[in-house]
Amino acid sequence: MSVLPPRVAFSRTSASAELTEAERTRILAKSALFNPPPHVLADGRRDLVGLSREELAEEIAAIGEKAFRVKQLWHWIYHQGVTDFAAMSSIARPLQARLAERFVIGRPVAATVQTSTDETRKFLFRFRDGQEAETVYIPDQSQDRGAVCISSQVGCTLSCRFCHTGTQTLVRNLGPAEIVGQFMAARDSYNEWPSPQGETPRLLSTIVLMGMGEPLYNYENVAKAMRIVMDGEGIGLSRRRITLSTSGVVPMMDRAGAELGVNLAVSLHAVRDDLRDELVPLNRKYPIAELLDACRRYPGATNARRITFEYVMLRGVNDSEAEARELVRLIAGIPAKVNLIPFNPWPGSSYEASSGNALHRFSKIVMEAGFASPIRTPRGQDILAACGQLRTESQRRK
Ligand code: SF4
Repeated sequence: MSVLPPRVAFSRTSASAELTEAERTRILAKSALFNPPPHVLADGRRDLVGLSREELAEEIAAIGEKAFRVKQLWHWIYHQGVTDFAAMSSIARPLQARLAERFVIGRPVAATVQTSTDETRKFLFRFRDGQEAETVYIPDQSQDRGAVCISSQVGCTLSCRFCHTGTQTLVRNLGPAEIVGQFMAARDSYNEWPSPQGETPRLLSTIVLMGMGEPLYNYENVAKAMRIVMDGEGIGLSRRRITLSTSGVVPMMDRAGAELGVNLAVSLHAVRDDLRDELVPLNRKYPIAELLDACRRYPGATNARRITFEYVMLRGVNDSEAEARELVRLIAGIPAKVNLIPFNPWPGSSYEASSGNALHRFSKIVMEAGFASPIRTPRGQDILAACGQLRTESQRRK
């Protein structure tokens, strides 16, 4: 076997780095075509939610106010959760009135709210332009905490075969205000303001970016929203409490890991490229080997912070013992856990859920190889809030 001389090896590495960078640029440019309308009301007032601290500082400077107002506003908006300038008691009345003339503190409107028999709550949020996305709060049944499953896009480009959202074409990306706004509005619903600090228990304790859409195809908006959520003077949710789920947009995984450092979940669902090409069509672009390489180099993946592989169990499609063994072989060496998701049917879906036996056999093989392999209990099935069941009627406008 010949070994490449160092110079050649280096030029190959940099060539592939350049390729990845070019691919990232292409993805970001395409994503920008689906960006949301600006967050300005018809009367010209600007929504302050979703602005970075720097952008908020620019708005405040533009009305001739001092920089310390940024800290005050941030506290009221993201720590106290107020939506009315008149409630900001540390700000004098005349300034409250000036702020209200120019700005609003918005929330998406909950068009419908359904609560399942198992307490899972699904929100259909309507945004300023009338487009809609769903958000789900999944309480932990044994403790006072729970996960908020947030959408990153209205619809999705990826058409994963087992997913209801995938039957809805991409309408548009959600903006930072709409992404953070889902969490804030869900919190309104549980009266969980001000933001609990430090180790104080939180009902809405984690965020999973697993709702409608592929977050890494809306990276800039998602990243901005997550930076707001993680800011310690506001909502203050640590990166360890945020999980970004991707179908495998390989070039963006590196960037998300380096810049955000949140937990990573990967929708794997198959161990052979021919099957994954069918179930997760993005696999044709980024096949399993490339995807797993990206997982191996994901920053911050350790035994304490394992990568989650999501695996939807489809009867007679991907649930054999041989596939469990192949899965173990593929992920060897990655600090990982495997979530087995019983398939949740939706109107028109063509798959069936695996039997309980198949689920347990599969889980046992993965577990015996040293990986945690919990079988997820479906939540909110009665209100179509379970994994892969979200969809809205929003359509792309010409
Ligand atoms: S699984 Fe995720 S990426 Fe695939 S179609 Fe559904 S929402 Fe889109």
